Amino acid sequence: MSYEAYKNNQLGFNTRQLHAGYNPAEHYRSKAVPIYQTAAFELGDFERCIRLFDYSEEGHSYVRFSNPTNTVLEKRLTSLEGGAESIALGSGMAAISNTFLNIAVAGDEIVSVNTLYGGSTTLLNSILPDYGIVGKFVEDENDIESYKKVITDKTKAIYIESLGNPGMNIIDIEAVANLAHENGIPLIVDNTFATPYLLRPFEYGADIVCYSATKYLAGHGTTIVGAVVEKGGFNWLNGKFPQFEKFYDEYKDTIGKEVLDETMFTKRLRIRYLTDLGSHLSPNSAFNLLQGIETLSLRMREHTANAQKVAEFLESHPQVLSVSYPGLKSNKYHELAKKYFPKGPGAIMSIRLKGGISAARKVLKKVKVFDYMVNVGDAKSLIVHSATSTHFGQSKEEREKAGVYDDTLRLSIGIEEAEDLIDDLKHALDSIEG
Ligand SMILES: *Cc1c(COP(=O)(O)O)cnc(C)c1O
Repeated sequence: MSYEAYKNNQLGFNTRQLHAGYNPAEHYRSKAVPIYQTAAFELGDFERCIRLFDYSEEGHSYVRFSNPTNTVLEKRLTSLEGGAESIALGSGMAAISNTFLNIAVAGDEIVSVNTLYGGSTTLLNSILPDYGIVGKFVEDENDIESYKKVITDKTKAIYIESLGNPGMNIIDIEAVANLAHENGIPLIVDNTFATPYLLRPFEYGADIVCYSATKYLAGHGTTIVGAVVEKGGFNWLNGKFPQFEKFYDEYKDTIGKEVLDETMFTKRLRIRYLTDLGSHLSPNSAFNLLQGIETLSLRMREHTANAQKVAEFLESHPQVLSVSYPGLKSNKYHELAKKYFPKGPGAIMSIRLKGGISAARKVLKKVKVFDYMVNVGDAKSLIVHSATSTHFGQSKEEREKAGVYDDTLRLSIGIEEAEDLIDDLKHALDSIEG
């Protein structure tokens, strides 16, 4: 038989999550994607070695640069996201830090928001500034004028999350993308909480999408993985990015102008940063990811349906002060959720408790189905007190800007029976009074 499904991007999402990017005929017809557990590949002959090292031929030499198992994962993600090319890396933070380093050099700025994943805030606030790359944070992420105020000639990108952590705030991606493009800079979106099943930021103008694939893409809490996907076609030669001009001159005759015009971001990320900073993803981890992605849409449908039921229950409980979940009609992002998340705004939510931090402590002690963990996006339900874990070490003011109060719990709703999750939370919340 011939295998054609691997390269047909017209197929539906459910089909592509099983087949995209993998042609068994190129791998001894193994139906499972093989794990290439090797550190290096034989180069063949003298001329081929030169072609591999000047990048005029695509192929594998040393695995810190590429590996066939990872290549399948990258192609699958590219297809699901509707992008031009992807890179898989050793973690979500590797994906994000390598992206920042690729886009900005000393003297440059990256504009972002206060409602970011803690590690990303730390990068922009405390780590990259030591290397001359400064994060600038907008005052109000829902007000486009706020972004205009902080964008300068030095700004090289706007960086946001499609669903903020842990408040589940939604930014008007389309408006921010337009503003970025008016300024000749790309919009980068961390789409971890949404996944390409719920939202494809490229359809709203984003240029780069980053993932902690550790979460829903892997789906089972087994593996740390990151990914960067490039939409393709952004003009990196518009005068704002001298590092890309230099790269273009260096590689236009070997990689080729057409390829660079389409995917120069990913090419430079791989050749400069993946290779020489060394955030390589092990092929075993890539394999786990591929297993997870096969059921992504099925899991996301269950996750979001459960989340809606749990959020509605929590909103009705007398011990709960507020629930941040955009699927609720009362939520301030409900209208944006309808635009960007017709399939449901993910399955992570945060709640505030009337009884303060001591109530939060009681709930964590009483839950029996929810696991007390900092992870999210596992098939299993997880709960955590953000102020003493994910946002530990930030000042009270910094935390509260991100929506993390002393009485805040973050929940990641799994795919158990919704009734069991509600019973578990009801029991724990009812125990607060006593
Ligand atoms: C977990 C997470 C990250 C970091 O990813 P790792 O895979 O843990 O390195 C980045 N962004 C968001 C939104 C996350 O949830």
